[in-house]
Amino acid sequence: MDTAHNSTKASGKVFFVGAGPGDPELLTVKAQRLLSRADVILHDDLVSPAILALAAPGAEVISVGKRYGAKGATQAEINERMIAAAHRYREVVRLKGGDPGIFGRLAEEIDALEAAGIAFEIVPGVTAGIAAAASLGVSLTDRRKAARVIVVTNHLAHPETKSEPADWRGLIREDSTLVIYMPGHDFAALRAQLLAAGCPLDMPAAIVSRASLSDQRYLFTTAGQLDQLPRLDSPAVLLVGRTLDQARLRGDSATALALSEAEAILSSL
Ligand code: SAH
Repeated sequence: MDTAHNSTKASGKVFFVGAGPGDPELLTVKAQRLLSRADVILHDDLVSPAILALAAPGAEVISVGKRYGAKGATQAEINERMIAAAHRYREVVRLKGGDPGIFGRLAEEIDALEAAGIAFEIVPGVTAGIAAAASLGVSLTDRRKAARVIVVTNHLAHPETKSEPADWRGLIREDSTLVIYMPGHDFAALRAQLLAAGCPLDMPAAIVSRASLSDQRYLFTTAGQLDQLPRLDSPAVLLVGRTLDQARLRGDSATALALSEAEAILSSL
């Protein structure tokens, strides 16, 4: 499928490629093909080394990470590099963690390419929240208890984003699964906000750290006990909703193993 979205004044084309959550096996076949033949790959911080290793031997692999707190490229610099690369090369891969269109500044980068008359194509990837649910062994929707999935970020945790903290009112419902990206580490504040928005104390929640990677960790809790969550390694995603009970109560061996590890983490605090 070829879905170029605009004119081709410049010779090259930019492929916004979703790298998925980290495990190279979760790449799409198309992503793998593009990675293995691109002239240049501009990638974010979150892309795992195992995925970058799939680049062609002669390819230029450039980190344009801008993890907040660290010195990194500004969005304007990233846009410039992308445009310069497209003028120079036939195929440019702009590689983003998870899916490019989920909290990935994709819209801004598309605007920049369109303004420069450069063709682009989006290759979707497995987003972190979906990978996290899979790791937990839960379904994000459930005809019996979860009619919607709400993908949201906890703005407070991201100093670069000048916006107010997420407004949880209206998002908290018995029949919703919340998938919270960039949940930060201040779980006491998050607990207070969720409860203030009407979240029941016993609403199940789970944090999944480094979903799909070999050092993945997860922990089950409830909204009322969120403040007791230990700090797990980044990146992590927080899921909140009744559908999590399916895994929390399952007690199968894989879950039990992870739970006992989690309990060990908790008890070592
Ligand atoms: N485009 C990405 C999200 C970028 S925002 C995607 O679709 O997944 C970065 C946030 O994504 C992180 O702060 C974290 O909340 C989440 N994230 C990314 N990779 C993750 C992983 N392997 N495990 C858990 N959370 C992850």
